Amino acid sequence: MIAASSLREFIERHEKLFVLTGAGCSTASGIPDYRDADGEWKRGRPIMFSDFVAHEHSRKRYWARGLIGWKRMRAARPNDAHSALAVLESQGRVAELVTQNVDGLHQAAGSRNVIDLHGRVDVVRCLTCERRLPREHVQAELVERNPSFAVLDAVEAPDGDAALEGVDFAAFDVPACDACGGLLKPDVVFFGERVPVERVQRAFTALEQADAMLVVGSSLMVYSGYRFARAMADAGKPIAAVNLGTTRADDLLALKVTERCADALSFLLGPAGRETAARVYI
Ligand SMILES: [Zn+2]
Repeated sequence: MIAASSLREFIERHEKLFVLTGAGCSTASGIPDYRDADGEWKRGRPIMFSDFVAHEHSRKRYWARGLIGWKRMRAARPNDAHSALAVLESQGRVAELVTQNVDGLHQAAGSRNVIDLHGRVDVVRCLTCERRLPREHVQAELVERNPSFAVLDAVEAPDGDAALEGVDFAAFDVPACDACGGLLKPDVVFFGERVPVERVQRAFTALEQADAMLVVGSSLMVYSGYRFARAMADAGKPIAAVNLGTTRADDLLALKVTERCADALSFLLGPAGRETAARVYI
């Protein structure tokens, strides 16, 4: 409880917050985290961009797993951590919310100024003509072409991907772009792929205008997130983090709250919000 009241003080003391969220914010919505409490990979490392582009079997495997993973991703609903951050924005305290998550749950909870640093899993992009189309559209085509895969179940990962062991992916039929025949890829930044520069610049502009940084549910192990904490620290501004495990920026933090995100932030929702947050974990 000491940590929770300190977080409240931290939030009250700093008027403009730069908020960065990660996988820990969405775990209570049923979207699993990639990493354990020490920041290590829980399962195999996610697919690399170079593998996806270079190898047909990698794309077959990716889309076969994605076909199943999307079912859970599509059903996910925001939890109290998302709601609390939407409340904070409605109070004029958050200029921009930068998320490493690709699930769209901040927007579903009512946040408006969201920078999806790593893209959105509900959008698919053609790598050749840049055409974008809804994931639901591609999902329907995947199911139609691959009825035997559509009935499989698996353990999903946070990007809508899923772990499918012992399955032969050779027969999987991956659709191409209707317009140009190019490769289709979820509009998500893969490992080994750059975050679009305009997104990063927009985030840094918000960071410069903020008084303090609040990290919610991120281990900051990926540089694309860590660099914001580094820049904040270099500017001499304080950083608070809510995360169940180690973060790469632990030595930069003014405050560390080792609690579930929804629990730590529930005070922003008032007494009713706290009751809801408690029910989530029963
Ligand atoms: Zn195309």
